Amino acid sequence: MKNSMQNEVLYNGEGHFSDEGIAFWIDCISENKKNLIPSSMINHLEECRICQSRIIEAQMLIDAINNYLPVTSPPFNVKHINRQKIFAAAAIIITLAAIAILFYLFRPQDNNDVFADYFHPYPDVITKKSNHSEKSDSFLMKGLFYYNYSVFDSAYHYFVRAQKRKSSDTLSLYLGVTYLTMDKTDEAISLLEKVSKQQGQFQDAASWYLALAYIRSSQSSKAETILSRMVSEHSMYEESAESILGLIKP
Ligand SMILES: [Zn+2]
Repeated sequence: MKNSMQNEVLYNGEGHFSDEGIAFWIDCISENKKNLIPSSMINHLEECRICQSRIIEAQMLIDAINNYLPVTSPPFNVKHINRQKIFAAAAIIITLAAIAILFYLFRPQDNNDVFADYFHPYPDVITKKSNHSEKSDSFLMKGLFYYNYSVFDSAYHYFVRAQKRKSSDTLSLYLGVTYLTMDKTDEAISLLEKVSKQQGQFQDAASWYLALAYIRSSQSSKAETILSRMVSEHSMYEESAESILGLIKP
């Protein structure tokens, strides 16, 4: 109970860290109390560039204040000016070191990094085709509208409604990719596995996104099996599959 209340304060309405969350994080790190940070925050920060850069900015500001504030030297004292320069240089070095440490500590895990580098949502191939049979599905089309604007939580909402009405490979692929944008890897895997097993328009794409999902969920050998097959069968993802194969960590 206490935890859930605390968690609400630590996040803003958009699911990112609130100002309190940022302050809490920096306090915990600076006081060597990383164990107090909820794992949900650690997981979020690993993947969220927005919160990473907000923490770094806040930390830089705090460093700057801490390092410059005590220096209150009279203006015409040469010795003090020199001292001030040394403080300024030290502040810059400390700030750079802090940034380097923050980047090192909170850089994404290797396979998450690979995922982030290679994951781009599958393009909308339905809306632009004037006579595509599935254009009559209004929920699918509304979902794709939001999908094209990268508003994935709204896209998700419509894809799920469409799927409840009538499931299809098209919906499973776009919903699977949408799940990947929302960090719902397990849900993505179960949808994409189905599509990748069936011969059809989206089999190749579903296999590619399934491999990416396996990479992110630490199922590297399953990913490698799919990617190796894509290379040997000259899939449309052949080149990407070949280069990503060399990057996956076991
Ligand atoms: Zn965030």
